[in-house]
Amino acid sequence: MTISPTRQLDRLIHLDPKSDKFAVDVVQLLLEHARQSRASDLHLIPNGQKQLEVFCRIDGLLQRIASIPSAASNIVSRLKVLAELLTYRTDVPQEGRIRGTTDGVEMRVSTFPTVHGEKAVVRLFAGSQQYLEMGDLSFPADVTLRCQEWLAQPQGVLLVTGPAGAGKTTTLYAALRQIQRQSLTPRSLCSLEDPIESLVPGVAQSQINPAAGFTYEVGLKSLLRQDPEVLMVGEIRDRGTAEIVFQASLTGHQVLTTFHAGRAAEACGRLLDMGIEPYIVKSGLLGILSQRLVRRLCSCSRAAMSEDDRMGWPVTHARVAVGCSECDNTGYKGRLPLVEALDPQAVGVGTALLRRADVQEIEKAAIEAGMVPLQRRVVAAIEAGQTTVQEAIRVLGIAK
Ligand SMILES: [Zn+2]
Repeated sequence: MTISPTRQLDRLIHLDPKSDKFAVDVVQLLLEHARQSRASDLHLIPNGQKQLEVFCRIDGLLQRIASIPSAASNIVSRLKVLAELLTYRTDVPQEGRIRGTTDGVEMRVSTFPTVHGEKAVVRLFAGSQQYLEMGDLSFPADVTLRCQEWLAQPQGVLLVTGPAGAGKTTTLYAALRQIQRQSLTPRSLCSLEDPIESLVPGVAQSQINPAAGFTYEVGLKSLLRQDPEVLMVGEIRDRGTAEIVFQASLTGHQVLTTFHAGRAAEACGRLLDMGIEPYIVKSGLLGILSQRLVRRLCSCSRAAMSEDDRMGWPVTHARVAVGCSECDNTGYKGRLPLVEALDPQAVGVGTALLRRADVQEIEKAAIEAGMVPLQRRVVAAIEAGQTTVQEAIRVLGIAK
């Protein structure tokens, strides 16, 4: 059995594959390891040689942590038992959750049949993030302030954009908690999510179920008849949902939601392309955040010495990842959000929206009105020694 030299995993070597309890003990150790190493997910993949390859995603990147030589199917079966799935069905994908964890970490299990047997992924939703508010997100001070102003408004849509894994849901939860804490009188707060990642006291949270016809659009229509004041909608996926979200915002509701779009200005363009009228986008939107997460340099980093270290980027200072025992030799520890905040009411932005200007024009107007774009945020983070040029290229996909 080969494993990486991590303390919790050392115990894996001493487990006896012939023991009746082998699968039970392996699963317990792997889940413990995933939780302790702040992993967002754990992947168990049979490789065709009767081995199970085990990976953890930490700070957005997959790391191979072990290769377990035998009883691969027993280990996946054990996970299925914990998640209350059908162990005798190995030919269809299944999803479930592990109940009764003591530390507030929600764990969702999904299995998928492959030619080499079932693979399984456990997603871990960190319990430690459940009390974050906007001020705890490590956003730049100007963006935090802008968000607080938006959230103090009685109605409108706050749109958070970015790719999967960019921290959008964490931002939505923080916004929801902020609204709840600032409310002077009790307010009706509801959410439609897929999946529910964290429980927020005082919020009526619902999990949509598209297979049963309970989509975001259907859920929103029903929920609005109950006249909630604040709605969190996991994601705008289609025109129908976008229309209801904006109608709700114009009729006195506050809506927090996410949208797949690269930059903030691009989200405006996509809403217009979906057929939402420009005046509705302008008057319905509180603001748009576009965010990414880059890995934060560990204190073992060193100063960039050469042009190669800076990869040709025009930065005044830069640091390079090194690696030590504190950061599992990755050179990074934790993550840092990069975020741009577009205000549709800002001078120039609103008029650009109303005349259906293209994305570049909207972005130019927003920057002239004071928006600091993601590219400038990442350069500032590199120059402050918080992250590296390599991370900027990996996450933003831009070369300079
Ligand atoms: Zn280090």
